[in-house]
Amino acid sequence: MKVLITGGAGFIGSHLAEKCLAEGHSVTALDDLSTGTQDNLNTAQTYGTRFQFIEGSVEDTKLVHDLVAAHDCVYHLASVVGVKRVLAEPLLTVREGLRGTDAVLEAADAAQVPTLIASTSEVYGRALDYLDPEGSQRLAEDSVLVLGTPARHRWLYAITKLAKEALAIAYHRQKGSPFVVVRFFNTVGPRQSPAYGMVIPNFVQAALQGRPIPVYGSGQQRRSFLHVQDAAEAIYRLLLTPSSPPWGEIFNVGNPHEISIRELAELVLQLVGTSSAIEYIPYEESYGPGFEDMQRRTPDITKITQWIGWKPQKSLSQILEEVISYATSSA
Ligand code: UDP
Repeated sequence: MKVLITGGAGFIGSHLAEKCLAEGHSVTALDDLSTGTQDNLNTAQTYGTRFQFIEGSVEDTKLVHDLVAAHDCVYHLASVVGVKRVLAEPLLTVREGLRGTDAVLEAADAAQVPTLIASTSEVYGRALDYLDPEGSQRLAEDSVLVLGTPARHRWLYAITKLAKEALAIAYHRQKGSPFVVVRFFNTVGPRQSPAYGMVIPNFVQAALQGRPIPVYGSGQQRRSFLHVQDAAEAIYRLLLTPSSPPWGEIFNVGNPHEISIRELAELVLQLVGTSSAIEYIPYEESYGPGFEDMQRRTPDITKITQWIGWKPQKSLSQILEEVISYATSSA
């Protein structure tokens, strides 16, 4: 199969490219290199003519139409990355998100090319904070979504992602387009840059540099972390080897194992083997006034497990060990 990956030089995109290449497919990575890097594609490049990189934007409608028509399936992963970048670039977040996705979907509909749209667990917003803040309930695809006003930056991102989901579903409903949506929960692993504020690369970098570990808020908030190769495996199977077509469906892709951010900081310190302090920083200081964080965000993955038999394979300790050794070797 000829596979097109938008955002192919990015964190998830580059791991997916390697997975597809290792399975014998050809891959084209389209990326504007705003946050992705050529270095991420070093392994993909070793596959010779089965891999090509094209520097360009998903907002370039002509380029997108030509590329989509020349491929057998599309992964649309291109997106603004990281809470801090979303806060700094709200206009880019919304416009690129909507225009780029529309360009991809319009082209994919015209050529009836199977396409996967990447969404995010941010669309659940504060659902668990309302439903079950202290408990063990998880977010299933049909859970309520509890979002705030787009006047608050965090929700502006979530609302944009929801609009992308709605567009894909609308194409499928009305025109039968072969589109599927995935909601990624926190996805981590080698190649994730500390430049965009995500917690694990930040904690690892701080620990390796002997700085205090910056825990925002109380540290009681909980998250669950999926290894990027597990994420790549899930979406590879969903589009390229499903047992029944997933069109018009939405799937969570995440790891249900939860940990508090304070415990995560302690685990990073233990694995790095340093005695750095943990520094608690108020949200206003780290993200600016009016920032809202959620206490819990944990996926129910029953649906994707039943559909394609996928479950995460790598534990949090394995993930952290890989991230630490990647950060050490690329320092
Ligand atoms: N966080 C933190 N220190 C950091 C970066 C993030 O304590 O250096 C917290 C953040 O406030 C959130 C959690 O860790 O509660 C996960 O943050 P991230 O930005 O990685 O992902 P999110 O789940 O917020 O999308």
